[in-house]
Amino acid sequence: MRIFDLFTRKKLDSGLLRTREGFLSRLGKAITGKTIIDEEVLDKIEETLIAADVGTETSLKIISNIQKSIEKEKKIGTGGLNEILKEEISSLLIDNSFTDFASIVKKPYIILVVGVNGVGKTTTIGKLAHIFKKAGKNVLFGAADTFRAAAVEQLGIWAKRSGAQIISQGANADPAAVAFDTVNSAIAKKMDVAIIDTAGRLHNKTNLMNELSKIKRVIQKVIPDAPHEVLLVLDASTGQNAIEQCKQFTEVTNVTALALTKLDGTAKGGVVIGISDRFKIPVKYIGVGEGIDDLQLFDKKEFADSLFNTKAE
Ligand code: GDP
Ligand code: GDP
Ligand code: MG
Repeated sequence: MRIFDLFTRKKLDSGLLRTREGFLSRLGKAITGKTIIDEEVLDKIEETLIAADVGTETSLKIISNIQKSIEKEKKIGTGGLNEILKEEISSLLIDNSFTDFASIVKKPYIILVVGVNGVGKTTTIGKLAHIFKKAGKNVLFGAADTFRAAAVEQLGIWAKRSGAQIISQGANADPAAVAFDTVNSAIAKKMDVAIIDTAGRLHNKTNLMNELSKIKRVIQKVIPDAPHEVLLVLDASTGQNAIEQCKQFTEVTNVTALALTKLDGTAKGGVVIGISDRFKIPVKYIGVGEGIDDLQLFDKKEFADSLFNTKAE
């Protein structure tokens, strides 16, 4: 089964509602009554991008690309500017080649989930397990966020909800020991996927680095090429903070994929564009709600389409 078929476009459109509203209304104002793209229009576009939390660097890049592409043709056709912007934005987004389960060739497929407290790691793990389960995969969780008892309990709740199994040694256990246990159990139980939750405290970079590399080291004792995916979860509603966290985590560990959560209810969804542009790490998943069905596979074309979809409610 193609993982893609599990997602609905409607959820994406509603999840991006606030970002789109802000974006389109600002853009609309920028070009009302204009027939050519002049400096004033470009300034307004830049403001619009920055207001959507795309980030200064990426916004300037988009503006300069638009300038280049309109050098010959300065006229704006109906909907023409939107088209140009949409093209520029989707070309900045990194392609996500993960469109079906065929890419999960390793068994067990080990996913290490990292990110600061509160960004939505545990929730994303639960939603992800639900998707895997729907596709007929067995999922095992590793409760390696042992910093707070509540974190372990919460993962347990998501395990029940999604039908995943869980390895836990309770609060205050050594996270690396939990990870070790999880990977071994995943092999013994012939699991398809093991997802390891972590604490990711950012109070001190050296500590974070040590903790994550220790977890990786013990995983690799069991499966040398694991983790097959290091998923960094970022809260899109924190805008530029998410970019800062991405910077810090990519400095301490080899992040292979990103999940951006809480796109629903924020107007800062443009951060997805800035992050894709700056880090060259694919955004694999986006969170558009708190429910079990509210995780979407990120598709750059659909994202850009939805952002400019004037017909979406
Ligand atoms: P963790 O500390 O990184 O594990 O974060 P949690 O998974 O505990 O999530 C923190 C809060 O964010 C919870 O209240 C979740 O319900 C909420 N949350 C997570 N993902 C989303 C999302 O995509 N949309 C919304 N609206 N809330 C989310
Ligand atoms: P170090 O603490 O940085 O030296 O990291 P280690 O490679 O020794 O492993 C860290 C943790 O993972 C240990 O405290 C163990 O709990 C667990 N671990 C690592 N290797 C093994 C092993 O072979 N067997 C078991 N049971 N646990 C292990
Ligand atoms: Mg958690």
